[in-house]
Amino acid sequence: MIDLRSDTVTRPTASMRAAMVSAEVGDDVYGEDPTVALLEDRVAGLFGHEAALFMPTGSMANVLAVRSLVAPGQEVLCESAAHIARAELGAHGAYSGVTMRTWHHPRGQVDLAMVRTLFAPDMGPFFVRTAAISVENTHNFAGGAVLPLSDLRDLRDFATGVGASIHMDGARIWNAHVATGTPLRDYGAIADVMAVCLSKGLGAPVGSLLVGSRDTVAEARIWRKRMGGGMRQVGILAAAGLHALDHHVERLADDHAHARLLAAACGVDPDGVDTNIVVVPRPDAPDFVLRAADAGVRVATVGPTTVRLVTHLGVTRADAEVAAGLLAGLV
Ligand SMILES: *Cc1c(COP(=O)(O)O)cnc(C)c1O
Repeated sequence: MIDLRSDTVTRPTASMRAAMVSAEVGDDVYGEDPTVALLEDRVAGLFGHEAALFMPTGSMANVLAVRSLVAPGQEVLCESAAHIARAELGAHGAYSGVTMRTWHHPRGQVDLAMVRTLFAPDMGPFFVRTAAISVENTHNFAGGAVLPLSDLRDLRDFATGVGASIHMDGARIWNAHVATGTPLRDYGAIADVMAVCLSKGLGAPVGSLLVGSRDTVAEARIWRKRMGGGMRQVGILAAAGLHALDHHVERLADDHAHARLLAAACGVDPDGVDTNIVVVPRPDAPDFVLRAADAGVRVATVGPTTVRLVTHLGVTRADAEVAAGLLAGLV
């Protein structure tokens, strides 16, 4: 079986496991895990921010990041298919009292004209105030689409001008960095607070980080514990993240090439595939998934008429070629 359902299905490599076994650890709730501290400092530095905080999931990092910018009863603007709007089960409302309004873009891009239209300044006791704007780079449900730096810079200028903050869901920011050559620091400069994942294309078994100012991270540390996310000798997992940063970033270019190969096989224009996710429109999506599984390729639906293929660390060039051949026989 070649598994293209998600880039979360990777298993730690032998050398990643070796790094985990030999990690120095301590109680991270006491702030005494040296490997976690190393990872947090390193990731903060990569994005040019003061601090970072390791936590179990990207969803938790997004929840804590957005709540650091948006008070209960205020709103965050985002694209309508954003992970924070669609795939976190309403966490921002359920836990943080945050409301959302959305703009729609088929490729998940920033629509600055719509952001300007939606943006609501503080109007006292009459209207919901827009406290933050959230962007997702790369955009998961838009097929791993990259948000161009120039659009992000224009959004940053707008947000600064109106006194709004920016949250970046950078679960796959590494893919955007490798696909475009944009330095991670340039992406970091756009956002007040970011969330980044180690457990997607980077291939770590667990782990995400919130990235921001020292004050934001100090407050997020309290909320992480409050939500049950204070972990103890977790350097064993942070070591996997450090290993991934050393060994699994540049290789994302292979995943991107494999995704284009699969796109072509499924009748999708490879030039529309920015990174490691291929969205295939199929009126028979659930049936296609079953037929693909029978043929030896696991794929997933992200809607009744949409199939998604995701390449990752566990898919070799040979696997991608075999999967392309099998899928081409089904389309
Ligand atoms: C996977 C993902 C997350 C976080 O997911 P978890 O499963 O909670 O780690 C956040 N944003 C995007 C865009 C994602 O793809």
